[in-house]
Amino acid sequence: MTDFTKAKKWLNDADAVIVTAGNGMAREEGLDILSEENFDDLYGDVAEKYDVHTIGDALDKKFASWTEQWTFWSQLINNYSLNYEPSESMLALKKLLKGKEYFIATSTFAHFFENAGFNENRIFNAFGDWTKMQCSSGINHGLKDDREVVRQFIAAGKNATEDLVPKCEVCNSEMELHMPLNAHFYPDTDANARMRWFLTGNEDKKVAILELGVDETSPQLLDPMVKLVEQFGDWHYLAADLRQDDLPDDLQKRSLAFDSNSYDLLMNLAK
Ligand SMILES: [Zn+2]
Repeated sequence: MTDFTKAKKWLNDADAVIVTAGNGMAREEGLDILSEENFDDLYGDVAEKYDVHTIGDALDKKFASWTEQWTFWSQLINNYSLNYEPSESMLALKKLLKGKEYFIATSTFAHFFENAGFNENRIFNAFGDWTKMQCSSGINHGLKDDREVVRQFIAAGKNATEDLVPKCEVCNSEMELHMPLNAHFYPDTDANARMRWFLTGNEDKKVAILELGVDETSPQLLDPMVKLVEQFGDWHYLAADLRQDDLPDDLQKRSLAFDSNSYDLLMNLAK
């Protein structure tokens, strides 16, 4: 049996599939937060004023005003989330999970999986979701959808004014993106709880974990998952990016690591 045949069998036989998706999968969907390519062309004003040349650096920057901040955030959300088209990789993943029980844990934050049509109650966005906003006061006043705000900022363009900046309904502080950009990030506890229930409910079942583009920037999607597979005898681990010797000795028979990338693995599995 080739590795792909074996991997397909594990997926087919699984009662449930858990997908862990990191940076590599975000790149498949067109969002590379570490890349300088095109940044200065697309976001010239920001690049010049703040001397930032990647999306990652720009997100870490505190801008001079909330209007400027939301103007930039809106461009990003509009480009990558509102105008989202699923990649070939994403379509292949949909095909693989069709009719399956699944849960997706991801460090991508651009609403890709929801936009691609996966069940939003089966997704945990570990690093937040920039189509949602939170209160900037440092107190957890809940999450709100920000897509209408984004549309208004995009419509206003360079004429956006302060009155478009969204405010907290509880304390009237400005709202900010639901991402860990500062010390007060509150993960989505409901989604986290749903994921824990899913894991617990499948302990004794056949489960395949499919790792897609997870790297050292999201360790919480790597080691804890490997430990679960070590713990439960009917679970298997499929890794797009890791090498076989990255995985523990006692998992060698129940794991396959392809030392490749999400695209290649998904294309081969969906064939
Ligand atoms: Zn508030």
